[in-house]
Amino acid sequence: MAKIRLYIDHPLAAGQPVPLEQGQAHYLSGVMRQKPGDRVRVFNGRDGEWLAELDQVGKRGGSVTPVEPSAPQQDPPDLWLCFAPIKKARTDFIVEKAAEMGAARILPVQTDHTNSERIRQDRLQAHAIEAAEQCGGTYVPPVDDLTPLSRLLDGWDEARRILWADEALAGPAQTLAGLQGGPWAILIGPEGGFSAAERTRLRSLPFVTPVSLGPRILRADTAAVAALALWQASLGDWR
Ligand code: SAH
Repeated sequence: MAKIRLYIDHPLAAGQPVPLEQGQAHYLSGVMRQKPGDRVRVFNGRDGEWLAELDQVGKRGGSVTPVEPSAPQQDPPDLWLCFAPIKKARTDFIVEKAAEMGAARILPVQTDHTNSERIRQDRLQAHAIEAAEQCGGTYVPPVDDLTPLSRLLDGWDEARRILWADEALAGPAQTLAGLQGGPWAILIGPEGGFSAAERTRLRSLPFVTPVSLGPRILRADTAAVAALALWQASLGDWR
């Protein structure tokens, strides 16, 4: 079985060549020493995974042709991850782990105690793609641009419930028993936690469920992975 997996943002169908990006061509020829005729696996986030053959590959580009489907398209449950970006490496980590853990959409939010006013959306999206390539996923979660939490909540569709990781509840861990499935979003705060005004607003919203992630205060990146695991095990595709 071909080991190399590549995300290719083009429709995939048997016998229809698709172009490689420059970075992919360089990786295949320069790093992995692949040659025309060698096989790789490709996916585009929509059409499942395909076994594909390298037509031509050089430093600057190349193309592959899908031969036959190798795995069906598998979308994650309808779970979003909203999180306040922290330092660069830890923010990258959160996006990578969210893609591996099966988040359907990743939304960086600016909270009162968020330090960064800007994110590199394109770089974060590239991390989500890389995570999908290496974890065998056929889905790539879209990464949104940074949005203020207040604006996100103003336009929120109440049918989607929010699991709010509330550090003030740190204590005995909760199970999510009793909660219903359906569309959900997890909300994780920044290193400084949520402000008093944010807490008041979140507590007043009927679609928000505060949750404890155990007796210790976790760093935001740890909290994101822990909350995703808790949700996937109780309501998602770990069941
Ligand atoms: N500086 C804050 C902690 C922030 S931790 C304080 O000392 O209180 C960063 C984020 O991770 C929090 O905003 C929360 O969303 C989440 N988090 C960390 N530990 C948690 C816990 N035990 N229970 C619930 N959420 C937690």
